[in-house]
Amino acid sequence: MHDARYADSQAPDRFGRWLRDLRISVTDRCNFRCRYCMPREVFGPDHVFLPRSELLTFEEITRLVRAFSRQGVRKIRLTGGEPLLRRQLDKLVAMLTEVDGIDDLALTTNASLLAAQARALRDAGLSRVTVSLDSLDADRFARISDTRVPLSRILQGIATAEEVGLAPIKINTVVKRGMNDGADLLELAEFGRAHGYTVRFIEYMDVGTTNGWRMDDVVPAREIVDRLHARWPVEPVDSDYPGEVAQRYRYRDGRGEVGIIASVTEPFCRTCTRARLSAQGELFTCLFAARGHDLRALVRGGADDAELERRIQAIWGRRTDRYSELRTTEANRARKVEMSYIGG
Ligand code: SAM
Ligand code: SF4
Ligand code: SF4
Repeated sequence: MHDARYADSQAPDRFGRWLRDLRISVTDRCNFRCRYCMPREVFGPDHVFLPRSELLTFEEITRLVRAFSRQGVRKIRLTGGEPLLRRQLDKLVAMLTEVDGIDDLALTTNASLLAAQARALRDAGLSRVTVSLDSLDADRFARISDTRVPLSRILQGIATAEEVGLAPIKINTVVKRGMNDGADLLELAEFGRAHGYTVRFIEYMDVGTTNGWRMDDVVPAREIVDRLHARWPVEPVDSDYPGEVAQRYRYRDGRGEVGIIASVTEPFCRTCTRARLSAQGELFTCLFAARGHDLRALVRGGADDAELERRIQAIWGRRTDRYSELRTTEANRARKVEMSYIGG
């Protein structure tokens, strides 16, 4: 799978996986307190977020993306915390569209600020958005996301994104037992079918150490597919590209597709080509890594481009992560980084 567009120094990790995707967290802040991600007891008024000086600047992010692209990255996803809280995010998008080798530039957002920013993001060159939404019931939405932002504002954000052409729109729904595994599941699927959005149901994961995860709270992918199938028959679709995380299904009646991300019950570490860059410039080679590698220190310390690339390559080349495959083993009980810190 060597690609001539990239530096010759490029190499796969210890398990033969190439570096292809980079998720960039642009802020650790969020205006929601989703129970499974940033529970208010932990992320309360006294929680200290990163000061601005700690965050990578847009210039620093762009420089790193150039180095990552030379090391094989083709897809960039901006995330957070809530990425639209980062001021002038459209400027960063415009800068990243100039980087050679990046084929796809996407954004994951809770959509609370999307209606206001969708046009500027599209004009800057953003390819598409994924919106996280766990319920279409206004009260349940408010409870799950623990926010005063009304559901109507999220729906408006999605509609505006579609209007300006940030398509195809994907909706990410974390499914948690007792939270939204009842009517919500089918309502969200129906919403996707009606509007042509691909809904992707995600198994609730044990990211970080604050969400009190228990295996009993996971609704297995199989159960989700069976529920959908009983209502609107579905059939599997081949994945688009190696490393695609969602299992894809098409509705037999032709009303689009639905995806399932079975991170817990059917892990996909074997094909994981994804790295993550935290808001303060640490490189994480796994969503469940306990620690990152400080690239900001290199950038701010005056490293040249070749040095940045060498460092990225060295870190990736040593990678042996496969947390989801080992989830229940003893070695895995260590402290992990929070999802809001490195993005989903
Ligand atoms: N704030 C943005 C949003 O919610 O779309 C971007 C960051 S958020 C951390 C990225 C994704 O991670 C969201 O789709 C969210 O639902 C998902 N997520 C957070 N905690 C999770 C968990 N414990 N299990 C599965 N997915 C989770
Ligand atoms: Fe915020 Fe996204 Fe985490 Fe919800 S999932 S608390 S919106 S970062
Ligand atoms: Fe990739 Fe780590 Fe997730 Fe496995 S657990 S798929 S290695 S991010």
